[in-house]
Formats: sequence, C-alpha cells, structure tokens
Amino acid sequence: MKKFLIAGNWKMNKSIAEAKLFADQLKGERIAHPEQLAVIAPFTQLETLKRELDGTGIKVGAQNVHFEKSGAYTGEISVPMLKELDIDLCIVGHSERREYFAETDSTVNMKLKALLNAGITPILCVGESLEIRETGNAMLFVSGQITEDLDGLTPAEVEQIVIAYEPIWAIGTGKTATPDQAEEMCGFIRGMIEGMYGRETAEGMIIQYGGSMKPSNADELLKKPDINGGLIGGASLEVGTFMEIAKAA
Ligand code: PGA
Repeated sequence: MKKFLIAGNWKMNKSIAEAKLFADQLKGERIAHPEQLAVIAPFTQLETLKRELDGTGIKVGAQNVHFEKSGAYTGEISVPMLKELDIDLCIVGHSERREYFAETDSTVNMKLKALLNAGITPILCVGESLEIRETGNAMLFVSGQITEDLDGLTPAEVEQIVIAYEPIWAIGTGKTATPDQAEEMCGFIRGMIEGMYGRETAEGMIIQYGGSMKPSNADELLKKPDINGGLIGGASLEVGTFMEIAKAA
C-alpha cells in the first residue's frame, strides 16, 4: 500500500484556544487513517494539541528545533524539550526559515541528526526559487540541498526522514506546481535517494509535495506515484479544507 502523510503546517498562526477548537473539530470527523495525519503548530500550542489529540493516532509536530541539547541559545527550543512533550515530527529547513532566519544546509544537517537520535521524525523541506526553475537548474539545486542536508546519515536513518518538495514559487502564492512538475521532482528525489542509499530506502521513504495544495488540486497531486502526501500551509488552517485534502489521499 502506498504510504501517505498529510501534514498541516500552521506557520505562525492560531491561539491556544483556536488550536483546541481545531482538535475538537478534528476529533468529530470520521478519519479512516489517523496515522496519516499530522498537525504542525507553533510551540505554544503543542502541549494542548498533544493532550487533545491523545489516543487518536493523529501526529503532532513542531516547526523548528535547535541542534544543541541545551545551553546559551536565547529564544531556541531543543530536541529534549520537544521529546518532553512527546512530539512526533519536526519540520527542518523550511524555505521560510532558510530565507528569513539564515538556516543553512549545514544547520539543517545538524538538526536532522539531533532529531533522528531522539526518535523524532524530521520533515526535511527542499525546493527551488522561481529564478532557479526558470534557468533550468531546479534539479541541480534540489540535489545539492539533499546531498548536503543528508551528509553523514546512514540508509536506516534516511528512511526515517520525510522529504517535502516545496518549490518556493508555489508557497502561499496560489500558484501550485502542476501534478507533472511535482511528480517529476518527487520522482527525481526518490531516484537520487536510491542511487545514494539503495532501493529499499528509496521505496520506504515518504516524499511529500508542498505549495498551495488545496482541495481542488490535492486529488491530482496525490494520485501521482511518487507523491506520498502533502505539507499544507494555508489550506490546513480550517478542519474542513484540511480534511478534504486528507480524504483525497
Ligand atoms: P502553502 O504553504 O500551502 O500555504 O503554500 C506550504 C508550506 O509552506 O508548507
């Protein structure tokens, strides 16, 4: 059976009360495969979401983490802190963090290692800008990110990682990659993983598409053989649209 992970990335949105309401509404839905669903929320909402979704099988994730266990890093949150809340997943290297918060492939690599050591599933985001796509270098760029981000990891570790292909030009713009464009890159990523870590690792991996995924395009995207789900921003803020996408999986 094809693996899926439909993850809502709330970014910097919602209050604790709104997160609780979302969890209550989600629990009211008939969900065939709760283990395929994840809500990825700001730090302040994580404890509430873990408590409210306890026993449902729905995963809860963080949007960022620091690679050191503790220390003088004002404003940061560590892997043991996420572990204390029993957090299931954590986004690493989202393009917004790479662009606005100077996240580099080297810090992404250290974060991946710290999360894997603690048994928290990383969702590694990669993807090219419009300029790079227009100059025909999208695959070269994404393969460079993947090579550096995964540096030093074993096949067994790589298989634990979820990769989200998120072309920057499609994030929050309403401009979705076509299903063929998304499939082409997700297939390319899987082929690359196969070349680096072997077939078993590549086939076992979840590779998501992200960037303006919504109910009207989810079906076509999720039908593609190399797309195992979505990382969904805007359309994950309401239970209704989030569930419509989930049902397309
Ligand atoms: P979007 O965001 O669905 O609002 O385009 C996706 C993401 O950045 O993860």
